[in-house]
Amino acid sequence: MIRFLLTCCIAFFFISFITPEKKVDFSDNVVIAHRGAWKKDNLPENSIASLKQAIALKCTGSEFDIRMTVDDSLIINHDAHYQKLSIEETSYADLEVHKLSNGEKLPTLREYLLAGMENNTSTRLICEIKPSETSAERGQEIAEKVFRLVEQVGASKMVVYISFDYEMLKKLIALDPNVRTQYLKGDVAPNQLKADSMTGLDYHYSVFQKQPEWIDEAKRNHLVLNAWTVDKEADMKWLLDRGFDQITTNEPELLLKITGK
Ligand code: MG
Repeated sequence: MIRFLLTCCIAFFFISFITPEKKVDFSDNVVIAHRGAWKKDNLPENSIASLKQAIALKCTGSEFDIRMTVDDSLIINHDAHYQKLSIEETSYADLEVHKLSNGEKLPTLREYLLAGMENNTSTRLICEIKPSETSAERGQEIAEKVFRLVEQVGASKMVVYISFDYEMLKKLIALDPNVRTQYLKGDVAPNQLKADSMTGLDYHYSVFQKQPEWIDEAKRNHLVLNAWTVDKEADMKWLLDRGFDQITTNEPELLLKITGK
């Protein structure tokens, strides 16, 4: 028996040694680059270039916005329109003829995730799934498609899902209770978020300034505290003084400098 256990231990040691799992060890800072790190270098928001720059800065996260075209392609764009075309009513082929301002192709979610997983052990991929313009049902469909794609490319450990659509986040939790989620709208108390199995909250910083008791309520529930979109030094310091885990900003370089990271 002892010899058997010893053999198992040795075998386990060698298997662990020769097949080390790629370690993801996110940066020990609070900085989430909002739509990537684009501002300082004048890159397009939500471009792969802005994502790569956030990774180069070793931000702990880089945020981006996901929408779905009429032919069910998941793409990265903030607004409901791209080049005056309604994304939900236009095919990817018709959108893609228009390049981003740096010459980059309008990124699909697949391309964005793959780019975000390349040489990156520092930066979480903060996926904002935009509510559907068409219907709540389509919203549920989009959430599931995003989830399946994240799984398929093996990005699950890198991803945090955020949304203004509470039902989309609940759908993701129903698909996998281990997903990381942060609600954005600012109208649900931390106790309720916990009861619904959310893992964090990402509210406009003014929500916390008006209801500072939600900060302690979130901490008591072990929820990840994040705030958007914080570009002024005084607001950054207000949140840092209150122990926020993450701060979403268009000025990642400034926040890194303030926090000495
Ligand atoms: Mg966003």
